[in-house]
Amino acid sequence: MKYFSLNGNAPEVSFRDAVVNGIAPDRGLYFPESITPLSKEFIDNLDNYSNSEIGYEIIKQFVGDEIPEQDLKQIVEETLCFDFPIVPIEENIGSLELFHGPTMAFKDVGGRFMARCLGYFNKKEKNDKDITVLVATSGDTGGAVASGFLGVQGVNVVILYPSGKVSNVQEKQLTALGQNITALEVDGAFDDCQDMVKTAFLDESLKEHRTLTSANSINVARWLPQAFYFFFAYKQLKDKSKDIVFSVPSGNFGNICAGMIAQKLGLPIKEFITGTNVNRVVPAYLETGIYEPKKTIPTISNAMDVGAPSNFIRIEKLHDFDVEKLRKNLKGYSYTDDEATAAMGHLYKKFNYVAEPHGAIGYLALKNYLKTATNTQGLFLETAHPVKFMDVLYPGVAETIELPEQIKAVIDKPKVSIKISDYKGLTDFLKS
Ligand SMILES: *Cc1c(COP(=O)(O)O)cnc(C)c1O
Repeated sequence: MKYFSLNGNAPEVSFRDAVVNGIAPDRGLYFPESITPLSKEFIDNLDNYSNSEIGYEIIKQFVGDEIPEQDLKQIVEETLCFDFPIVPIEENIGSLELFHGPTMAFKDVGGRFMARCLGYFNKKEKNDKDITVLVATSGDTGGAVASGFLGVQGVNVVILYPSGKVSNVQEKQLTALGQNITALEVDGAFDDCQDMVKTAFLDESLKEHRTLTSANSINVARWLPQAFYFFFAYKQLKDKSKDIVFSVPSGNFGNICAGMIAQKLGLPIKEFITGTNVNRVVPAYLETGIYEPKKTIPTISNAMDVGAPSNFIRIEKLHDFDVEKLRKNLKGYSYTDDEATAAMGHLYKKFNYVAEPHGAIGYLALKNYLKTATNTQGLFLETAHPVKFMDVLYPGVAETIELPEQIKAVIDKPKVSIKISDYKGLTDFLKS
């Protein structure tokens, strides 16, 4: 499979190069040159296949012959080491829970898959130097990437996070893993971490010491495997006679864009709904036809605080850059923090369901959509476990939550971090 740059000014590359480089030299996102639908027979009979078998069928065309069948099957199997249950909430509404993985966020799927692909390429190429994955995190992403790469041979992970600005659970998920994961605690804000990472990628003086790569969410190996769980959801639905819609709470729009790949592959999804917080660039675009990135506004659903969604161009590509086509396949709604909190309260009091702010926005958007839809089964994606957002749950709910095993396993481990305060601190570490 070849990948081309959506900026149109870079050579086509292999899957391997798209994964290792992350972004094209013209700064464009990579996109697969073709998407071939799976057979109707396969989709009608998903029941007969395990999740790993389904994942392999989906991903194999995007990898092509660059990873042999047995190795790719193993990578998919190790990626999918947890469940993706649907919890029924009310008539025609279910929650597709994507948070049962090691760090309790849907990003585990992409993080684990990408890590194993990089590990495979590095081993095959017998590189004498390990690869160093350098990531900046504001909280959620770093944990999923770190855990995804934990113990993967030939790959070291260096995570930069802003000191005092991530939650206690998130900090432990970054700093207590050990092995090939190092946490650098930066005296500064997330933007400072991000700037240092960008500078390091361009820094010639580091090249003799480290082979650096990024684990950014625009990497095709993080994006494409997210199509898997739309199939797992369909497999679980007992009544397939209704129209099926997915409501995806979105920030960078990678998750929902993977759902649209599932649809292209033949999964019978009627259309998509996106819920955003007040960072509403995409819902505004659907309304007005004008695409206007904005400065980010902080909210309680902070993993969706994105003012310039990086994956949106892939969604446009999938709809031929035609806003009318897109409007037929995507409905968008946005909500304030107060509305998200009220929705968490409603879900808890009426249905005894504990949601965190991102999932609550997915629920609200779905409810809105269903007001005018008939004969429709809707699923909203619950993208993280509530334990990761304790401080912003509906009042009184946090106290009722039992710590899941994954969190218990790290919460009492000692935090190990290296403090740095400037770029020199980073380069000193990387050269050591
Ligand atoms: C990353 C994230 C999102 C947003 O996903 P995108 O693919 O960026 O749209 C939503 N919820 C949670 C909990 C996240 O961590």
